[in-house]
Amino acid sequence: MEKIKMTTPLVEMDGDEMTRILWQWIKDILILPYVDLKTEYYDLGLRKREETKDQITIDSAEATKKYGVAVKCATITPNAARVEEYGLSEMWKSPNGTIRAALDGTVFRTPILVKGITPYIPTWTKPITIARHAYGDVYKNCEMQVQGGGKAELCFTDKNGRETRKLIHEFTDDGIIQGIHNRDASISGFAHACFKYALDRRQDLWFASKDTISKIYDHRFKDIFYEIFEAEYKEKFAAAGIEFFYTLIDDAVARVIRSNGGYIWACKNYDGDVMSDMVSTAYGSLAMMTSVLVSPTGIYEYEAAHGTVQRHYYKHLKGEETSTNSVATIFAWSGALRKRGELDGISALCDYADKLEQATIATIEDGIMTGDLYLLSKLENKKKVNSREFLEEIGKRLSAALG
Ligand code: NAP
Ligand code: MG
Repeated sequence: MEKIKMTTPLVEMDGDEMTRILWQWIKDILILPYVDLKTEYYDLGLRKREETKDQITIDSAEATKKYGVAVKCATITPNAARVEEYGLSEMWKSPNGTIRAALDGTVFRTPILVKGITPYIPTWTKPITIARHAYGDVYKNCEMQVQGGGKAELCFTDKNGRETRKLIHEFTDDGIIQGIHNRDASISGFAHACFKYALDRRQDLWFASKDTISKIYDHRFKDIFYEIFEAEYKEKFAAAGIEFFYTLIDDAVARVIRSNGGYIWACKNYDGDVMSDMVSTAYGSLAMMTSVLVSPTGIYEYEAAHGTVQRHYYKHLKGEETSTNSVATIFAWSGALRKRGELDGISALCDYADKLEQATIATIEDGIMTGDLYLLSKLENKKKVNSREFLEEIGKRLSAALG
């Protein structure tokens, strides 16, 4: 078989520890035999970030803006222990945070469903994608503890020095106060990313907040979503046969539990934080959760939702066998290659990405899986394999599918 040719390079962001090992194996076993892979390579491994004073992360984000599609391996976010372990000159920031800030993006997380692993909510037969707004609200708050009574006010000073004040509370005793904010531009970016992603996936979009209680703050989110929808997406949604609907967050929670899945649930920052943990746990495993960062202008960065699986890496270094699940990382590659194929009009690349995903799911449904899934699967013929054997089993099925 002739290898599939690419025209535009994919931005490849390598990472750390066990996922870095899997990264190379995925390429060797599942990609390079079939695709004439064209990437612009950035090593975001912690050693390289230290060596370049983290410039490599910034460069990789810039390259993503230039080419439009990236695939990222999990990376270490340094803490005090990592500073010592790697002899770092600085506690470098989370690469994900840097990339997210550069692309002003929204993160979409979607579980991968397989036969044999039943969600804790058995009616969830299709995936629920959580889109979390990643700016502001309580994550950029300002808070105060106050004592002995007094008056708390919100005060805004405009450019001309004119003040607008509103009473928060007249305290008669001790208490607490919090100030939060968001920006119209950030909310608009979030809305655009959600509408574009819904069209891309041809799935309904739900958005919820608490505008009945928060009549200005949450209501602004609702208004911005509707204004943008009416002006730019209403007809496209109708043509795609999908729906956008807004409801109250408590009503959304009740509907989500009763639903069969198969839609995108856009959440404000705090709701997204809480609900994404609930949704991913209910579907079974973090190793089966894909994640894609989408910018308001339609730039895509694909990754796995889990970390570098440090504990497995130390076993690997000691020469012990590991059984690490590579599914989310494989799907990051297939997602990125498919998107590249769509943008460049290379249908063979899209077809390859579909077959790679099908071969991965078929392997697990045939009963061959890594240790984390082995504990969850209800299949009777299940067999636990090591990290590399799992990829080789997928490789056999992929090779057969591609003829
Ligand atoms: P983690 O790498 O997600 O792993 C936590 C545990 O979850 C593992 O020890 C393992 O459990 C299980 N697990 C996660 N992914 C798995 C997989 N693919 N296959 C099998 N089991 C899996 O989180 P962490 O240990 O808290 O973090 C390690 C490093 O990752 C940290 O330095 C952190 O900064 C970084 N991190 C990066 C990202 C990212 O780049 N997107 C996200 C999160 C964390 P058992 O040990 O019980 O088998
Ligand atoms: Mg959380």
